[in-house]
Amino acid sequence: MKRIYEKPVISKINAGMPDKFGMSNKMREVSQIDNINVEDITAEYGSPAFVVSEKTIRDTYKDAHRAFATRYPKVQFAWSYKTNYLDAVCNIYHDLGSWAEVVSMFEYEKAINNGVPGKKIIFNGPDKSKEDLKIAVDNGSYIHIDHFDEFYNLVEVLQDSEKKAKVAIRINMDTGIYPQWDRFGFNYENGEAWTAITRIMMQDKMQLAGLHTHIGTYIMTPSAYSLAAAKLSQLFLDIQAKFNHTLSYIDMGGGFASKNTLKGAYLPGKDTCPTFNQYADAITTAIISSGIDINHLPTLILETGRAMIDDAGYLIGQVIANKRLSSGRRSIVLDMGINNLFTSFWYNHDIYPAHIRSQALEDTAIYGPLCMNIDCIREAIQFPPVELGDHLVLERVGAYNMTQWMQFITYRPNIVLIDTEKKMHLIRKKENMDTFKTQEDTAYNAQ
Ligand SMILES: *Cc1c(COP(=O)(O)O)cnc(C)c1O
Repeated sequence: MKRIYEKPVISKINAGMPDKFGMSNKMREVSQIDNINVEDITAEYGSPAFVVSEKTIRDTYKDAHRAFATRYPKVQFAWSYKTNYLDAVCNIYHDLGSWAEVVSMFEYEKAINNGVPGKKIIFNGPDKSKEDLKIAVDNGSYIHIDHFDEFYNLVEVLQDSEKKAKVAIRINMDTGIYPQWDRFGFNYENGEAWTAITRIMMQDKMQLAGLHTHIGTYIMTPSAYSLAAAKLSQLFLDIQAKFNHTLSYIDMGGGFASKNTLKGAYLPGKDTCPTFNQYADAITTAIISSGIDINHLPTLILETGRAMIDDAGYLIGQVIANKRLSSGRRSIVLDMGINNLFTSFWYNHDIYPAHIRSQALEDTAIYGPLCMNIDCIREAIQFPPVELGDHLVLERVGAYNMTQWMQFITYRPNIVLIDTEKKMHLIRKKENMDTFKTQEDTAYNAQ
């Protein structure tokens, strides 16, 4: 039989540009968060909206805890409040066994308000007034002294106190990470830390309980932690030798990298981010091989923030415009911007459509809704076509965005938590005009 003639057609292959390894570059869609449809979340809570996954918080905590507890007998996590201090979030960490790690009186009050006992609060940071110090002493909290002026203030506070203060010092040091974070705490190499330790040991009303460091944030090299743990272990031994005093803990701070991709990074963060096992190995190996008697090992405290919660946070937004820039480049405008996403200054956040219309990816700039030029979420991303009202989901925004967000020309959005039973809870409601009316003083009106 003669086949029917069909005219030839040329059709574009929509497989997308290959990536730098020649692999096909396909965009995936994120239509659900913890099995709940993105549309169902926005139907109830509007757009934009932050979403927090309780399951991811719990799973990540367990992963981190297991990594350390299988390598070291005494491990205690302390939740870094500034990373995400929503009460609902903090209380999940406290339920899992975390203490509170706070860096201001505001955060200290939040921890107390969350029912954390004073003796399970670690008070860090360079700004503690005499009044703050007195409260921390009365509550039996661990005060991590940051500088000598704070030490002298504490000496004064203790003169009229019946209680002893439980203290540690924050120590900064060379761990091969530059620039060195030497603006916090006492320096190891120049002997300042040792002077601080000696001054504390001369105070009857101070009990030196531990040593603390926080070497930086998004540290991608576990070996930096080996060096830091070795230096703190050496101080632990020196204190035993000179003062016959055994510390109860070594606190390694936070700083583990999350799977977000730093701007300018060659490979995606999820391929370069060390595992909790690698960090745990670096730290615990340094301590147990230091010469500290293994029958009297100090408790190992960890204040992991970013790596613990980044994956549990999502931000949902909507497309409000498709646009061509004067160069012909494609751009889209969303209803969420850097006001919600402080971390977009240093991360290229992963962003996905809730539903893919086509794999015809095109180089795109993604902007927020603010009337400022810097409101850009992604300067260049291979992105599929979208239409007005389409939902997009940003992944890994659990750390620092819900604390560092700014209120600029609009209200802060709803924050929804999905619990382990897949139920949604509004854990922080969207701001409204009343938020401002309670704060602003209307007694003065020039009219
Ligand atoms: C911010 C901070 C943390 C948490 O840091 P991450 O990099 O988020 O892990 C821990 N300890 C101290 C003292 C901090 O200031």
